[in-house]
Amino acid sequence: MVALYHSDRRETPVEDVSSPVDPIENRPAAHDVAGCIPCDALAGRAPLPGGRIHQTPHWTIMHVFGSFGLGALAVVPLRHVVHVADLSQEEVSELGAVLRETADVVTELTDPVQVYTCQWSHHGGRAAHIHFILQPIRQSDMNAHPGKLGPMLQTALAEAGNKPDHDAVEAFAERARTLYAARRV
Ligand SMILES: [Zn+2]
Repeated sequence: MVALYHSDRRETPVEDVSSPVDPIENRPAAHDVAGCIPCDALAGRAPLPGGRIHQTPHWTIMHVFGSFGLGALAVVPLRHVVHVADLSQEEVSELGAVLRETADVVTELTDPVQVYTCQWSHHGGRAAHIHFILQPIRQSDMNAHPGKLGPMLQTALAEAGNKPDHDAVEAFAERARTLYAARRV
């Protein structure tokens, strides 16, 4: 299942362009891998529609690039990590709260029946920069594909062309950004 990853993007090999001084504000000095789609987006080497919506010391939230519909947000480690098992203690300690808050933001903005939360970072046959996708499943999604739930419903939605346009993503991201910010005042 393609998520952040576009099928027409180049595959690995990738180039490790890590440096001791990371140029990205608040990004831990760690691996930054050219050719990795999240790393490229975070480093400004590739477009990031909607931009960074919210950020913690170790995670950032962006709108999903692929066919997961409008309102699907990705929780992405700032560090290039390709296995959940390789997350640091610091990354893990933030993860639960970040997932919960992101699910709450998605829920408030989309009124879903459920927020599917999945991690399928696998691209070109290789493990890829992990990202947790929080996808709102609306009643209208279920009505359009009766009898399908879970991965089968996600597949049906994707096959039906569930990729939102750029302007809609930008507008949704701004609404989400406002909600995250409102929780901190
Ligand atoms: Zn990466």
